[in-house]
Amino acid sequence: MSGCEFTLEELRHDKPREECGVVGVFNHPEAANLAYLSLYAQQHRGQEGAGIVSYNAEDDEFHTIKGQGLVPDIFSHAKLQKLPGNFAIGHNRYSTAGGAGLKNVQPLVAKSALGTIAMAHNGNLTNADLLREQLEEQGAIFQSSIDSEVLLHLIARSREKSFPRRIIDAIAQVKGGFSLIFLTEDSLVGVRDPHGFRPLSLGRFLDGGYVLASETCAFDLIGAEFERDIRPGEMVVINGSEVSSCMPFQIHEGAFCIFEYVYFSRVDSKIGGNTVWTVRKNQGRFLARETPVEADVVIPVPDSGVATAMGFAEESGIPYEMGLIRNHYVGRTFIEPQSSIRHFGVKIKLNPVREVIEGKRVVVVDDSIVRGTTSRKIVEMIRRAGAREVHMRIGSPKIISPCFYGIDTPTREELIGSSNNVEEIRQHLTADTLGYLSEEGLLAASPKLGGYCTACFSGNYPVNVVFDKPEQGGLFQGG
Ligand code: AMP
Repeated sequence: MSGCEFTLEELRHDKPREECGVVGVFNHPEAANLAYLSLYAQQHRGQEGAGIVSYNAEDDEFHTIKGQGLVPDIFSHAKLQKLPGNFAIGHNRYSTAGGAGLKNVQPLVAKSALGTIAMAHNGNLTNADLLREQLEEQGAIFQSSIDSEVLLHLIARSREKSFPRRIIDAIAQVKGGFSLIFLTEDSLVGVRDPHGFRPLSLGRFLDGGYVLASETCAFDLIGAEFERDIRPGEMVVINGSEVSSCMPFQIHEGAFCIFEYVYFSRVDSKIGGNTVWTVRKNQGRFLARETPVEADVVIPVPDSGVATAMGFAEESGIPYEMGLIRNHYVGRTFIEPQSSIRHFGVKIKLNPVREVIEGKRVVVVDDSIVRGTTSRKIVEMIRRAGAREVHMRIGSPKIISPCFYGIDTPTREELIGSSNNVEEIRQHLTADTLGYLSEEGLLAASPKLGGYCTACFSGNYPVNVVFDKPEQGGLFQGG
């Protein structure tokens, strides 16, 4: 890999990444309202912007409303009324530096010779740069800087005679992690990439309509029944009252993002038949077995560490308490990337409960350490609240490599785990002890789903990342 790494990190920095939530509602008189509620339930998947596109057969128009910020701040009652029709798709966006701005908020809508198509994408296309360059050379004009837009160009250029066939044609040319929802004038289409990096589930309304969403917590809010997960490499086309399914892509080894179970998905969502809460608690149990410690109290870093800490407490027999309280009204603005603001953010977000901590040997449990900034502040905070000892326990292995398939992780240099061993990280955090769950432990604690992507912990990337320029080496094969 020598000589390639620099370019790879540049690639990470420059491109807006799509760590997002998607939804599609088909054949329901309140399609836009339900899309709104689904985005609201999936707010944790992206807080920087959101959009809904509806299709109204009566005026034969696609209607779009997008904005920056949180879902309830973007969509007022009056705005939702401007999204008529029985079909709607929506998207929550989580971008990073360089990727913000309204032009990058999805869903994207394009007119083609076959009609109009709208698209919402969760994931990351690893060969998008190369495809974009080729398309631009051929005269294509892009509206946004997001990788997803290449798909719309590929669909528009396809010679196939129907949208589903064009979608297959386009997707066959892209690589990476993607769960996609498309809306046309008569169909809702859902696709999961052949590795199945990102989740996508199908739900049904009792009165006949259908819904696709990144996470099942959206179904619970809108009263839809969970039908099933979309399979890796599967495309479903919902048309009228029919759901047809096909497996048009070459199937690869399963690589579901294990970080969805560790951190990203909401704990009440069900993935692969397993509720995230149960899986995460199990990760905590394994963590307690692998990294035992004598202590008086187990406390979570709320909210991300709650399930893991409960599992740890149950397994170890150490009492569980809420020793840190989170202010839920702090927006993501306070954890924006600049480090000066991040430091401030931890204090604004979390406050210790002195009675729980004072004079105690405290185990503090979180799901992951990324830069180490938050954990260090938390250890300091717990000590200042009078803890006798602070033992940090993490429900996943050391994060050593960036994600290229749709989770926002910083560059390799910013990941504290990439260049420091556990003892060095412990010193940085100023904890008495530090324990991570091993990769074997994480896999053993998680459901047997047919293969996981663990690239952020192992550096083994299941799908190549393509450089901008072939002369720079063409392909990056991690590991
Ligand atoms: P830090 O180590 O200071 O960068 O932050 C670690 C915290 O960030 C942990 O509490 C995690 O729950 C949380 N975290 C992990 N991954 C992400 C992510 N992709 N985006 C935002 N927060 C994350």
